Amino acid sequence: MSPSLPTVHGMGLAPVPYLFGGEQHGRGITIPDNFYKTGVWVRKRVEILERDNHECQRCKDAGGYSKGNVVHHIKHLEDRPDLALDDDNLMTVCEACHNALHPERMRTPEASKRRQITPERW
Ligand SMILES: [Zn+2]
Ligand SMILES: [Zn+2]
Repeated sequence: MSPSLPTVHGMGLAPVPYLFGGEQHGRGITIPDNFYKTGVWVRKRVEILERDNHECQRCKDAGGYSKGNVVHHIKHLEDRPDLALDDDNLMTVCEACHNALHPERMRTPEASKRRQITPERW
């Protein structure tokens, strides 16, 4: 993992619960269904891609190189919504690695269409 410290960036980012309208449940924070379309995420994603030089960190750990274009939540959003925008919980990966990191999503597109119980949250 990168040695970067968990910094708070001067982007005027409010704590996550407030970013998302502050809807509180028992566990604290609810990530909206359109999380991946929110401005805060779009900006954060670019930030992480740039931090990681658009390089897949998983391939890199394995001694290889792949261009990465997916920002993955190391602790999944559903489990740790409070880490949704935490730099240390985000890593750039390639699509192949991302699929490997989400065995639950390893279905053919057709199959996943039929399994629409779980919305696309990764
Ligand atoms: Zn990879
Ligand atoms: Zn992911």
